[in-house]
Amino acid sequence: MKSKVRTAGRAVMISDVVVIGAGPAGLSAAIAAAEAGASVVVIDENPRAGGKLLGQLHEEPGTGWWIGADISKKLAERAADAGVRILTNRQVWNLSPGWEVALDNGESVSAKYAVAATGAAERPLPIPGWSMPGVMAIGAAQTLTNYYRVRPGDRIAIVGIDPLSLTVAHELSMAGADVVGIYLPSKSVFTGSQADPDRNLEYLAGMSELAPNAFLRWGGRLAANPTLRSLALTFFPKSGIPLMGTRLNLRKSLISIGGDGRVQHIETAAIDKQGNPGKIQTVEVDCVCISGGLYPVQELTRDCELVRIDQLGGTVPLYSQELETTQDNLFVAGNVTGIEGAKIAMAQGNLAGTVIASRLGLIQGKKAIDQAAEAVRSARKSSAITFMPDIEEGRRIADDLWLKRGSENLLTQKDESYA
Ligand SMILES: Cc1cc2nc3c(=O)[nH]c(=O)nc-3n(C[C@H](O)[C@H](O)[C@H](O)COP(=O)(O)OP(=O)(O)OC[C@H]3O[C@@H](n4cnc5c(N)ncnc54)[C@H](O)[C@@H]3O)c2cc1C
Repeated sequence: MKSKVRTAGRAVMISDVVVIGAGPAGLSAAIAAAEAGASVVVIDENPRAGGKLLGQLHEEPGTGWWIGADISKKLAERAADAGVRILTNRQVWNLSPGWEVALDNGESVSAKYAVAATGAAERPLPIPGWSMPGVMAIGAAQTLTNYYRVRPGDRIAIVGIDPLSLTVAHELSMAGADVVGIYLPSKSVFTGSQADPDRNLEYLAGMSELAPNAFLRWGGRLAANPTLRSLALTFFPKSGIPLMGTRLNLRKSLISIGGDGRVQHIETAAIDKQGNPGKIQTVEVDCVCISGGLYPVQELTRDCELVRIDQLGGTVPLYSQELETTQDNLFVAGNVTGIEGAKIAMAQGNLAGTVIASRLGLIQGKKAIDQAAEAVRSARKSSAITFMPDIEEGRRIADDLWLKRGSENLLTQKDESYA
């Protein structure tokens, strides 16, 4: 069922399913439901469908180049072929049970089922000088370079060590930029463990199989053992190690950004194993990219039972194995459930769309749902990038809390362990 009526000049669309977010999760959910026969409307605030997938461009071991813009195009075409209506350039301002979706242009969508696939956002990381022209979030640098084909600078410094900053450093070098180094942020109330060399070495373990550098592979594999990790940090070269066309510095932090009206230089400090600064050095650059990590976006799921699970990246709704939330007929898929890569987001979207199609009576039996759930598990096993090093623990906590929801213990447990 899909229809459009006008009330007081505002278009109201009625469909079986409304999906918020046209990233890999939202598009995959829409495809699964629509190919089973449901009428589906997808809404996204951006001019093109694809979400964060649009800017992704990296080489994966065994499978070759991952070109997000091409994959987004194929997903959007497949969705359109299945009859999905994709509404771009519209922001969802409100989602209320029923489900009623209010858009920023006055339109609204009514649907029996809703999927919140609103993805992730970047955490800010304030650094002295960060408001100057030439400083940007790492995601902005990725979008400029890979999607708009605009190099954000010629000599670029990156602050923050995580899978995203390492990936984008490589992308910037491939685009011809001189990436002078990847630095830790300096210790502050905002940076917490992000400024800790030991925690960063542990973080790199998530990428150790991908590491093109023997030292990093070695360091990554040692990460589980604190004594060996300390040894690896002691011997970590003060000038960093070469990595993907730049230098990775675990023993240097970026303490400030300077320049006359725009970025012209950074100040870095050599640091000890605890992150305490020593000798300061000035490095000329014309661009600084800040990577503070990602968190799941929950504005539209705020009426669900939410729980903070740091291992998943922040606050997430409680959700079942079939991705249903504590709100009837509201499903979640993708990074809104925790920070993971695009292939996992696609598999989760497919699962949510398949479950909804089954609830609508368009799919009989459990086989399709079981297969979709298995595809999520297998996407996780083969994932090239681990954004959150303790994600498995996070998922176990989330599963546990779902099973215990409604019981008297839940609030206490949330407060003590996860808040
Ligand atoms: C800056 C950044 C860079 C990343 N780079 C990589 C990478 O290189 N490799 C990798 O594997 N993963 C990367 N990721 C992780 C990435 O989020 C996942 O790979 C994947 O894109 C998640 O899919 P998703 O569908 O859950 O969310 P997204 O791809 O984020 O899609 C969500 C969509 O919902 C839209 N949306 C949100 N709220 C609203 C609203 N209220 N109204 C309308 N539209 C809304 C968003 O604009 C977005 O288009 C990156 C994440 C970020 C934030």
